[in-house]
Amino acid sequence: MAHSKDLLVLENFIGGKFVPCSSYIDSYNPSTGDVYCRVPDSGKEEVEAAVKAAQDAFPVWSSKSPLERSQILNKLADLIEHDLEVFAKAESKDQGKTITFARTVDIPRAVYNFRFFASSILHHVTECTEMATMGCVHYTSRAPVGVAGLISPWNLPLYLLTWKIAPAIACGNTVVAKPSEMTSVTAWMMCKLLEKAGVPHGVVNVVFGTGAKAGEALVCHPDVPLISFTGSTLTAQRIMEKSAPHCKRLSLELGGKNPAIIFDDADLSQCIPTTLKSSFANQGEICLCTSRIFVQRGTYSEFLKRFVAEAKKWKAGNPSDPTVNVGALISKEHLEKVRSYVKRAQAEGARVLCGEGVDSLDLPAGNQKGYFMLPTVIAEVQDESCCMQEEIFGPVTCVVAFDTEEEVIKRANSVKYGLAATVWSSNVGRIHRVARRLQSGLVWTNCWLIRDLNLPFGGMKASGIGREGAKDSYEFFTEVKTITIKH
Ligand code: NAD
Repeated sequence: MAHSKDLLVLENFIGGKFVPCSSYIDSYNPSTGDVYCRVPDSGKEEVEAAVKAAQDAFPVWSSKSPLERSQILNKLADLIEHDLEVFAKAESKDQGKTITFARTVDIPRAVYNFRFFASSILHHVTECTEMATMGCVHYTSRAPVGVAGLISPWNLPLYLLTWKIAPAIACGNTVVAKPSEMTSVTAWMMCKLLEKAGVPHGVVNVVFGTGAKAGEALVCHPDVPLISFTGSTLTAQRIMEKSAPHCKRLSLELGGKNPAIIFDDADLSQCIPTTLKSSFANQGEICLCTSRIFVQRGTYSEFLKRFVAEAKKWKAGNPSDPTVNVGALISKEHLEKVRSYVKRAQAEGARVLCGEGVDSLDLPAGNQKGYFMLPTVIAEVQDESCCMQEEIFGPVTCVVAFDTEEEVIKRANSVKYGLAATVWSSNVGRIHRVARRLQSGLVWTNCWLIRDLNLPFGGMKASGIGREGAKDSYEFFTEVKTITIKH
């Protein structure tokens, strides 16, 4: 493909320097379908250089006090915040999401990730026990592990990458990060701010490229003892296999097939707008998005009518238009995959009530070749259907009816995933009962996506291994030792 001269060309960031790569891959603007950026196609050689730089930086960085590291993280947060609008525009162009979403969710959260871990690193205490009869005290000491390998997906690019970089470096590790090859731009922009923030050369290295080449080289590198990965369950299986010979420490944040359970006593005036967001925000490309809505029989018809009417109001189009709610999906292939699920549901006898194949997309001239799709609601779908079992990761949600609490818990749990659930009811006792029995790492009741970063985040079953959060990330990114002193 011919490239115009004004393509954005990214470079790896290794040992504090931008380094060109011998080959590159194309990156698309999902809202226009044009190639607009070239991303290094790194492999073993580039990963080797980055790991070496991270190893060299480790002794000095790991021996800094938490306060010194905290001040640098805060400075970096300030610098990203200063450029928030530029970052938001870049994230939107690279990923397809609306600028509004990038401006209000992605970039503020990236800033907050640094601020949060800059603070939390100052407040950990280790354990101590006394064994008076033996004349002993025991205490634990925690130390950074070494070079951390960080691999992130394309849906919330800077948000999820910084959710790994911030705790890793706050704890004194040095890192080699590999963002998704489809959304590398904001990570590259962040690298430009590292020196000014005071991050020493080699503490944060970013290697761009595909999962198969750059990602796997990082996973297989013998001097990278831990990998923090967010992405699909399939890739996680591969990472587990490849890292097994080295017995690496793994944190895996994976996919979901998240239920919303709506009881007859739910406040629909709150539930409907929130469930629209939980189903369709960021084009449904959030691991926490709702894709199975279980509505109790007495409310089912009313919910469905009002939910579909509201979903039809969501506008898809140019991501920089402030009236647009739905941006572009990440790629042509992904759009085709999401659409194919809707077709399969129809072929199985389900009813598509709005969106794909029902309503027409009205796109501006410049976005005709973009990867757009309207919010799509499917009803009368069987629990065994692929649309109810597999992660679609697009603006598609299924609505089904249920009768009893016992029944809905069983049905909600009958998927391989266990990431997030929402429960809507005004009965506190029921909320506690249901929340405790759902196989889900996170349960939001009468709300969605309200997070306290202090508390554990992560999934059970095929949705992941390990948790992230203030204490959890601290434990993951440090090695603990028990020391016994006899007097
Ligand atoms: P993906 O698994 O295809 O890719 C994720 C990252 O892994 C990318 O950087 C990719 O290049 C890399 N990768 C791919 N193959 C690799 C390999 N063999 N070795 C090493 N690295 C490899 O996922 P995606 O399509 O980018 O993201 C979507 C998925 O991420 C969805 O399943 C979604 O649910 C999940 N996700 C989970 C969370 C969470 O916190 N649980 C958050 C966001 C996204």
